[in-house]
Amino acid sequence: MSSVPRITLNNGVTMPQLGFGVWQVPDDEAATAVARALEAGYRSIDTAAAYENEVGTGRAIAESGVPREDVFLTTKLWNTEQGYDATLRAFDASLERLGTDYVDLYLIHWPVPMFDRYVDTWRAFEKLATDGRARAIGVSNFQPPHLERLLAETSTVPAVNQVELHPHFQQEQLRTFNTAHHIATEAWSPLGQGKDVLTEPSVGAIGRKHGRTPAQVVLRWHLQLGNVVIPKSVTPSRITENFEVLDFELDAEDMSAIAALETGSRLGPDPSTMDFMG
Ligand code: NAD
Repeated sequence: MSSVPRITLNNGVTMPQLGFGVWQVPDDEAATAVARALEAGYRSIDTAAAYENEVGTGRAIAESGVPREDVFLTTKLWNTEQGYDATLRAFDASLERLGTDYVDLYLIHWPVPMFDRYVDTWRAFEKLATDGRARAIGVSNFQPPHLERLLAETSTVPAVNQVELHPHFQQEQLRTFNTAHHIATEAWSPLGQGKDVLTEPSVGAIGRKHGRTPAQVVLRWHLQLGNVVIPKSVTPSRITENFEVLDFELDAEDMSAIAALETGSRLGPDPSTMDFMG
């Protein structure tokens, strides 16, 4: 089996470029799905306090037989917990649910700019990093104005910006901004949530050319762009299929055919107006 490439983050910590996401997986099913993912070879797991499956995720890791230090574990701070003290409390609660004493990556889930607490929140993240309880700290759904503010007002550049990114929403400008500031780009909904992206005729044609499925083509495209990807599935065959993307290569013609699929339309909310506090 080819090994998963690792991305070196701006603090020197390395992160697998291919991981496994568990959004919308109920806690009891998360334990099974994460166990299957670890068996298939994934060593990076992406959860969040808001997914309400940190308990199942943590249990699967603990019971897997894979040493904790071989798993790259990400969780995220939910919007209602933003602010310095609330963040520190929320982090402790996440660790308790996960059953671990550190995370590899802690992300601010959304900027919620109208709430205006992400700078204070980030200062708490800096403390968690200094204390060694989060090996790396980053953000999710941050746009350049939100990142510019962190860069101007704090002293730690986020290691990662996890954003919606798939062939219909390629985030070219944001990727360029992230790269210029040594922020790794991580793609959420990398398969476009398994909807229209996977039925694009050109994705199907590229798959036939390489003897691969549409999902494998799309994941390969992400890897070749340099994105970190965290596809989600609870179906054992798809968990394996999504991991088998390390032993083939798209050519320049394939990459430009996928580049042409940009539609500019999001599947999720716009981070500048997203104010969901539930
Ligand atoms: P995704 O793009 O990974 O698509 C998952 C869906 O695609 C599955 O539910 C299934 O229906 C389908 N699918 C999976 N593998 C397939 C295959 N091989 N063939 C055909 N269909 C397949 O969508 P996602 O779950 O939204 O995103 C992945 C992860 O990103 C999440 O689980 C979560 O960890 C993270 N995420 C983060 C945010 C954020 O705000 N930071 C938001 C959404 C998702």
